[in-house]
Amino acid sequence: MELRGKDVLVVGMKRSGMGAIELLRKHGARVRAMDAQVPTPEDLARLQALGVSVSPQQPENLGTPDLIVLSPAVPFHLPLFAPARERGVPVIGEVELASFFLKGPVIGITGSNGKTTTTALVGHLLRECGVRCQVGGNIGTAVTSLIGTSAEEQWNVLELSSFQLETIDRFRAHIGACLNVTPDHLDRHGTLDLYAAAKGRLLETQIAGDFAVLNYEDSICRGYARKTRAEVFWFSSKQPVPQGVAIENNALVYCGEPFLNRSSIKLRGMHNVENVMAATLMAHLAGVPLEELAPAVESFSGVEHRIEFVRKLDGVEYYNDSKATNVDATLKAVASFPGNLWIILGGKDKGSDYAPLAEALREKAKRALLIGAATQLIAEALKDRVPLEDCGTLERAVRYAREHAEAGDFVLLAPACASFDQFENFEHRGRVFKQIVAELL
Ligand code: ADP
Repeated sequence: MELRGKDVLVVGMKRSGMGAIELLRKHGARVRAMDAQVPTPEDLARLQALGVSVSPQQPENLGTPDLIVLSPAVPFHLPLFAPARERGVPVIGEVELASFFLKGPVIGITGSNGKTTTTALVGHLLRECGVRCQVGGNIGTAVTSLIGTSAEEQWNVLELSSFQLETIDRFRAHIGACLNVTPDHLDRHGTLDLYAAAKGRLLETQIAGDFAVLNYEDSICRGYARKTRAEVFWFSSKQPVPQGVAIENNALVYCGEPFLNRSSIKLRGMHNVENVMAATLMAHLAGVPLEELAPAVESFSGVEHRIEFVRKLDGVEYYNDSKATNVDATLKAVASFPGNLWIILGGKDKGSDYAPLAEALREKAKRALLIGAATQLIAEALKDRVPLEDCGTLERAVRYAREHAEAGDFVLLAPACASFDQFENFEHRGRVFKQIVAELL
């Protein structure tokens, strides 16, 4: 893609936008940036140093760019870009932009839940087994920022969200995985079909000779199998699969051949067994021999804020699953414990249906401790089924649990909501939780 002298507008200036701007400047484009929010002084200084002007996200500031690059936070179909699109101006995402320059094959991982854990695990497996790779995308480093360190013989292991995939066309994963599709981000995508279609782009841009890794238990994933030109490999925690990884006699088997005992997986919960299945399958397709997978899986201890063990105090175990920002993730967390739960729920509502929590918590929870803006909505869904306590803040919820929990109980932060009502993000919420727990006497 020739960028020299082109007038490029980048919209959204968080990590991906900044990565795109740096790449565009490096290739000689004239870059203007736009954001719905006022940039921080640090961002402004950085942009100035790059020779990039910034303006508020308003129609009059669009100008007549040759190309518009959107960061994942910016909805692709925003009416703001319609006139430019009508004039034939390409509107692409940051990942699509990266695809023109990124060297080496891609392992792309999407799904509603488990992306980060699985991406980190694939990176870990490849590194442990001596296969060169770099890890990025939604998990951390923007894809455009990985270009400088990319190489023909090195895998790019990328976590990809629906927002990043919505706009791809040329971007292609040699190994593309979808772990599951359950309702999430409907406030932005509108319907489950549109959300599923955005994720499905990952499989649709694959070509013959590529590999698709899909969840055999997920009907939307089955639909992707019909659309991809890649060879499909399945994983299932419930039944044998036509080709791929399944469980037999408590061992993970690849096309019938056992390669890992279930007991070697340190991460809690069946959903994590599924993540391990998908990750080992991808690592194997990327060239790792089956017999090398078990020791590499055993040395993986998980990712922060995902059912992370925090502390045991007077026989009560505290777990941080701040990343459980939707109902499905919370259900999976609940299923990972035998019962005796003091579960902390709430935060910023994303238009979710909390009813599915009632049944699971009726069996497993001693009490649900509610915090934040979604308190009323969750209380409505759980009332008469689960004992509730309106705690308001995370601190009060933890202290309530400390006072009432008994040896053998579990205190679990798995809020089923976004964090933005009381925290900067889910990491901040998880760190605050760990801090409060660490200070308990
Ligand atoms: P993502 O990057 O897709 O958000 P994470 O690995 O960060 O995925 O996990 C997000 C949340 O979902 C955590 O609460 C985690 O415990 C839960 N989770 C992880 N893997 C799965 C899975 N395969 N199915 C359902 N929930 C999962």
